[in-house]
Amino acid sequence: MSDLIAEAPAVSKVELMTGDAYRESLRDYRPRVFVDGRAVASVVDEPALRPGVNALAFTYDSALRPDLAPIALATQTRRNRIVNRMTHVNESAGDLLNKLEMVRLLCQETGCAQRYLAHDALNGLAQVTARIDDAKGTREHGERFEAYLAHVQDNDLTLGIAMTDAKGDRSRKPHQQANRDAYVHIVERNAKGIVIGGTKAIVTGAPYMHELLVMPSRNMGPEDADFALCCAVRVDAPGITIVSRPAGRPGDDLEHGDAPFSRKYGQATAVVIFDRVFVPWERVFFAGDWEHSHVLTYSYATHHRHTCIAARAGFGDLLIGAGALMCEANGLDPGTKSSLREPMVELITITESFFACGVAASVYAERDPYSGTFMPEPVFANIGKLLLATKIYDMHRIAHEVSGGLIVTLPGPDEDHNPVTAATLAEVLQAAPGIPYDKRIQTARLIEDLTASYQGGWYSVISLHGGGSPAAMKQEIWRNYPVGSKVELVERLLDRGLLHDEKRAITRNRQPGKCCDAGCTAPGQPMMVALPASRRTSKRPDEATSKPQ
Ligand SMILES: Cc1cc2nc3c(=O)[nH]c(=O)nc-3n(C[C@H](O)[C@H](O)[C@H](O)COP(=O)(O)OP(=O)(O)OC[C@H]3O[C@@H](n4cnc5c(N)ncnc54)[C@H](O)[C@@H]3O)c2cc1C
Repeated sequence: MSDLIAEAPAVSKVELMTGDAYRESLRDYRPRVFVDGRAVASVVDEPALRPGVNALAFTYDSALRPDLAPIALATQTRRNRIVNRMTHVNESAGDLLNKLEMVRLLCQETGCAQRYLAHDALNGLAQVTARIDDAKGTREHGERFEAYLAHVQDNDLTLGIAMTDAKGDRSRKPHQQANRDAYVHIVERNAKGIVIGGTKAIVTGAPYMHELLVMPSRNMGPEDADFALCCAVRVDAPGITIVSRPAGRPGDDLEHGDAPFSRKYGQATAVVIFDRVFVPWERVFFAGDWEHSHVLTYSYATHHRHTCIAARAGFGDLLIGAGALMCEANGLDPGTKSSLREPMVELITITESFFACGVAASVYAERDPYSGTFMPEPVFANIGKLLLATKIYDMHRIAHEVSGGLIVTLPGPDEDHNPVTAATLAEVLQAAPGIPYDKRIQTARLIEDLTASYQGGWYSVISLHGGGSPAAMKQEIWRNYPVGSKVELVERLLDRGLLHDEKRAITRNRQPGKCCDAGCTAPGQPMMVALPASRRTSKRPDEATSKPQ
């Protein structure tokens, strides 16, 4: 009898890196990097990049915490491998929920954890390579992707996503640009691979990534075939130059004193110039397939917007906690003062409403029929991203409103050590009895750093444009929303007796969706693991005592 029962293949865990091992792994790469006009000799030893390296290292260490394992790790069943969630290709709606939880936790601690970009791109790549094979009757695109996925997962790599081209004149397509290098393109093809050139304008964390995934930033026409390419390259491939901004606010001598949060964690963004960079065929996922370019931009953008929701919810958690602390330090309880409770509840409502869109996008996720990848529902994913993109300004305003003007006016840290003023300041600037001045000013400086500094402006701009500008989300919401079904619903109620007309623009979009009469999409069965203690209690993740189930 037992001979008839096939044995389930054993699942093995990849060797995950610690944060320090990740730091050391960067020494194996020699990228050509400039920061602030200087050549960087060693990325891992460069102070201007350290907050970015720290954020990435934090994601590596988090994956090794037993209490976080249920959300930090995931089983890639088609490879029988347990991998870091940030390199996992989703196999269920539950995977999407668990990714949201993990990214939120990582961004609570680091502001922006960055590594999730790799997850989003790998999921988009799984979808487009399967689609190309289906259209061409081939297998090679999917096989190359699977080999690359194994390389990334088994070596626990971190990837930079080089999608946004320099783009030149925004009103022109790639082949119409005066300077061909405004978009990355194929310069030459030969038996061994392709040679690429051009410029990607914004790549998060480029200096401290292991590899770059080069992807097209828009849909293309036949004349743009040379610009329709997707491939992976080592960050130090000959011909790549990375011109980066510093990560966070690493300087020690800033105008208003040391930055309490962003000197430790931050994100570098870089212009990446490709000058005749050779890419072997095994790392080319498509080259010239202009008709599939939009599949990758659409699927990557949907995964990425879904992830951005969790990232900014983590940032919202920081503002909620800091805002409440500031109220307390000022001697006020939002529970009894409606003038503070109202803005605090507004901040909570904003944060949890866009996060709820992420949950809804996971629950209504659908299995991609070509790759089997689970794709967040695009309307909810785009609404969530649109909400955070525009509401980030209200989030900052509320943090300022509940905290008072001292967040930008209190003396800087150097004054803390001035023997003439320190004691007097500590005495006259204490507010709530029992909360010493240094605790009050510490919170005020954190809020300044997160919302009113260069870094505060940065959080606004990444929320607004990172993952696509608001117009892109609005286009996707309109494109995917079944307005037609709702128009026909009203016409039926009005007894107009109209027949469906395919040519009528307003009723054309009748995609089965929620609350329509054309077959509602049944929610999937998301299986979310028990939340780590840090999401249920005030304990830090590493203090959690409950065992994961
Ligand atoms: C902090 C940060 C990190 C980022 N990280 C990455 C990353 O890691 N990888 C990556 O690939 N990208 C990254 N991005 C890029 C991000 O995806 C882009 O900023 C976004 O897609 C907008 O592109 P853009 O900045 O070139 O703006 P633009 O394209 O110049 O757009 C500016 C405005 O013009 C509008 N517009 C543009 N073209 C047209 C047109 N033809 N007709 C009408 N209106 C138009 C837009 O809607 C927008 O409102 C990052 C961005 C930020 C801010």
